[in-house]
Amino acid sequence: MKVLVINCGSSSLKYQLIDSESEQVLAKGLCERIGIDGVLTHTPAGKDKIVFNDPLPNHTVAVGNVLKQLTDKENGVIADLSEIGAVGHRVVHGGEKFASSIVLTDEVIAEIDKCSDLAPLHNPANIIGINACRELMPGVPMVAVFDTAFHQTMPEEAYLYGLPYEYYEKYAVRRYGFHGTSHSFVSKRTAELLGKNVEDMKIIVCHLGNGASISAVDHGKSVETSMGLTPLEGLVMGTRCGDIDPAILEFIANKEGLDIAGLLNVCNKKSGVLGVSGVSSDFRDLHAAAEEGNARAKAALSVFVHRVVKYIGAYAAVMNGVDAIAFTAGCGENDPIVRADIMGYLGYLGITLDAEKNNCRGKEQVISTPDSKVTAIIVPTNEELAIARETVALV
Ligand code: ADP
Repeated sequence: MKVLVINCGSSSLKYQLIDSESEQVLAKGLCERIGIDGVLTHTPAGKDKIVFNDPLPNHTVAVGNVLKQLTDKENGVIADLSEIGAVGHRVVHGGEKFASSIVLTDEVIAEIDKCSDLAPLHNPANIIGINACRELMPGVPMVAVFDTAFHQTMPEEAYLYGLPYEYYEKYAVRRYGFHGTSHSFVSKRTAELLGKNVEDMKIIVCHLGNGASISAVDHGKSVETSMGLTPLEGLVMGTRCGDIDPAILEFIANKEGLDIAGLLNVCNKKSGVLGVSGVSSDFRDLHAAAEEGNARAKAALSVFVHRVVKYIGAYAAVMNGVDAIAFTAGCGENDPIVRADIMGYLGYLGITLDAEKNNCRGKEQVISTPDSKVTAIIVPTNEELAIARETVALV
């Protein structure tokens, strides 16, 4: 079956058409500046990308143009739309309602809308994408795959905050966690690559991208993760601060004359390794600056590594041990320096780095020595493929 995977944001829409039998990507692309002017970048497998500047006044037009390209005589990869057997939609927040993926119906969409309170920037955009696809592909089964679902197995002690319980009861304030599709995919693949059953393993997954989170996956279930009610908590990220003393907010508000929206903008967009370094949110730029002696770039890298190391220690404690630590996403897959720095702290777990094996990018590879008590491994994530698999399984 050919599955169209859609990841819709407020002004952007990413897509991949995946053949579920071969698991090959037939075409992929991105619509940007929807509602502003519009750019569609379409890449058929094995060909160069093509850029179209036709206006994209709304998401329905964007989806329409994507479908046009997928079936185009020259740039297309399918003869007509009837070849698309199902559509898988990435949905950011499923709240406590959705602990797994689900076939989309009017009722389900209404429930997703109820979760918009928890992700006001994301869920409404996801629903717009869903509705645009339903309008243009009536009768094609569609599935929602949630970023939060995999973490719904967390026990109460992990998801409750130390806040008045009534906030949980009244407003569902609790830890949800994100990147669930990636944590699920990578933990399963880690077990597969090591020739083991995920149900027999304790795995720590380090999803280190621009947004970054860690999870503790105990016998196949997420039991802890670093992101919280929103993706702001946890690790120091590209531009997000991660964990801070909440009282800092009032202190800075008074000093800088910022309101809540201004503070959250700083915490989400101007903090993290960008904020500490003043150089960039991109680890490649940070390494280049650090090499030239930029002390703040070095500090940003150290702060990032330190936070990851703290969480690994915490999650080994939460699971009472760990069998494997998996690195994934942009930095986790591609940055041997950061991986080596993290591993340098983990001698107490009996981990030894194989420096030569670690010196690689973006491929499945064990990077600890054979006698290492805990296995460290690189597992490139593939959220689109995971969404396609979930979609096929449900339809
Ligand atoms: P997201 O999906 O959260 O936007 P990605 O998983 O694509 O993020 O990760 C993007 C980040 O990965 C970049 O900001 C950069 O810091 C890091 N990255 C990508 N390639 C490399 C590389 N070769 N070396 C180090 N870091 C890299």
